[in-house]
Amino acid sequence: MTEHKKIGIMGGTFNPIHFGHLLLAETAFHQFQLDEILIMPTKNPYYKKISNSVTEEDRVRMVELAIEDNPHFHLSTEELDREGATYTVETLSHLTRNHPNCSYYFIMGADSLYHIESWKQPEEILRMATIVVAGRAGTGSSLNSQIEYIENKYEATIFRLNSPVLEISSNDIRRRVEEGESIRYLLPANVEQYIKAHNLYCTDDTEEEKEERSIRV
Ligand code: NAP
Repeated sequence: MTEHKKIGIMGGTFNPIHFGHLLLAETAFHQFQLDEILIMPTKNPYYKKISNSVTEEDRVRMVELAIEDNPHFHLSTEELDREGATYTVETLSHLTRNHPNCSYYFIMGADSLYHIESWKQPEEILRMATIVVAGRAGTGSSLNSQIEYIENKYEATIFRLNSPVLEISSNDIRRRVEEGESIRYLLPANVEQYIKAHNLYCTDDTEEEKEERSIRV
């Protein structure tokens, strides 16, 4: 008989991956005694525009560098290998169908839980995966209310992560690079070097691209 496995999924645009993402995944691994964590970059999220100057390969390479020293983190190209927009429900359907011996723990920040009802087929997502959610600064008891609301409305199991809050965001990292500020200690040093070596986030964007960038989440 195949051994049952508990798999964490840390999905993200990872533009770029930073210590906030890595801390979430590492904390979930230990708190829920998971067997491994899939670090899963999204493909073409329909809800967010990826900068023209950063390719899918760049995002993947930055993930590879960020996780190379962690034996229980694995890059998953599950979503990159599919054509078109990325929907979590399709990812989970595919994984649960192909690996019936695994249970899945989807790791997310608080904003994702606030927005999950706008995702495609949230009831299916919540049925197929346990949700592990991390608080953000100021989300204290309101996050507990959101957890209670979702658990009452759907067939859902949601746990809060016991993780320190690191107020790091990819958006802020991109802005810092563009404005020539330091990004040291916000993300792994090898990812910082990659960003510098490939001139990411400080391209000569057109006015239209700059406009798009300023409104991007
Ligand atoms: P992202 O910006 O790269 O962030 C990835 C996750 O890390 C998010 O849950 C985010 O929480 C969390 N995070 C980032 N920085 C954090 C910090 N400093 N402290 C705590 N948490 C932090 O990726 P994303 O674009 O939000 O996508 C996340 C996942 O949701 C992906 O797998 C994507 O496919 C999925 N998604 C699916 C749908 C759908 O199926 N319709 C729609 C949207 C997203 P916050 O949410 O709090 O920022």
